[in-house]
Amino acid sequence: MQIITAPNQLESFLSEHRSSGRPLGFVPTMGALHEGHISLIDYSLRDNNTTIASIFVNPTQFTDFIDFEKYPRQLAADFDKLRLAGCDAVFVPEVASIYPEPDTTQYQLGPVAERLEGAFRPGHFNGVASVVKRLFALLQPQKAYFGLKDYQQYLVIKTLVNKYRLPVEVVGCPTIRDEQGLAMSSRNQLLSPEERRTALALYRALRIVADAFDSGVTSGLQHMGWDFLNAQQGVQLEYFDIAEQETLLPIGDGQVKQEIKPVALAAARVGNIRLIDNMLLR
Ligand code: AMP
Repeated sequence: MQIITAPNQLESFLSEHRSSGRPLGFVPTMGALHEGHISLIDYSLRDNNTTIASIFVNPTQFTDFIDFEKYPRQLAADFDKLRLAGCDAVFVPEVASIYPEPDTTQYQLGPVAERLEGAFRPGHFNGVASVVKRLFALLQPQKAYFGLKDYQQYLVIKTLVNKYRLPVEVVGCPTIRDEQGLAMSSRNQLLSPEERRTALALYRALRIVADAFDSGVTSGLQHMGWDFLNAQQGVQLEYFDIAEQETLLPIGDGQVKQEIKPVALAAARVGNIRLIDNMLLR
């Protein structure tokens, strides 16, 4: 596996790859890799001749400096995991290669970027849009792989690609959970064992709502999830929402109809760690 840090190294890797005329798959990450990330690598390996990952803790998407500072960084272990997975290359840029000058663009991505995470973390999706657009421009992949774990981010990136006509196919991949259901996340390693148990409440709330929906319940779903999570000790709930899967517009109570595909989304703090999770309801 090639470890690429400088833009000129990237250029020679890409020109060699391009001469093969085969598709390049790209998996952007912030590192501290776990099975969720590796599943994206696996999807890319299946679809493409060459797979490149990136590891970049993007400062512009953090709305809280302490969160940025304490974000886990473990490059050596990450490289081992990528190598083992069969990844061809990893791009680990310096901040200056991604932002030679600050990106001051205000990306207007509409409601998918404004509600939920957009409202609780103002500026977050602007930072995500700017780093992903820059990485796509540098790597020019044919396909890029994103986890549905960050469902709203996935929609934001699809919107970015459509709006700016970026020549890349965005592939959404299912959420990988541990054996108890907790969605894997780099931030989980910052949880104490007790907080980890508490964090399972997010999955349980989503499961309760998804099971109710499957058994024909169409009203009171948001309250059901909200009340369950709000009653858990150690959980500070930020939102529990039922939204339309494509637009992320809220679905009012009693409006869950046959033709609408809902997704339930939750965000909460457990101790100092902010966690998000979601579940497609159909
Ligand atoms: P991150 O390193 O957290 O920025 O995540 C990099 C990519 O991995 C994003 O597309 C995430 O949605 C995806 N990802 C993170 N956790 C999971 C998971 N548990 N299952 C599937 N994909 C994930």
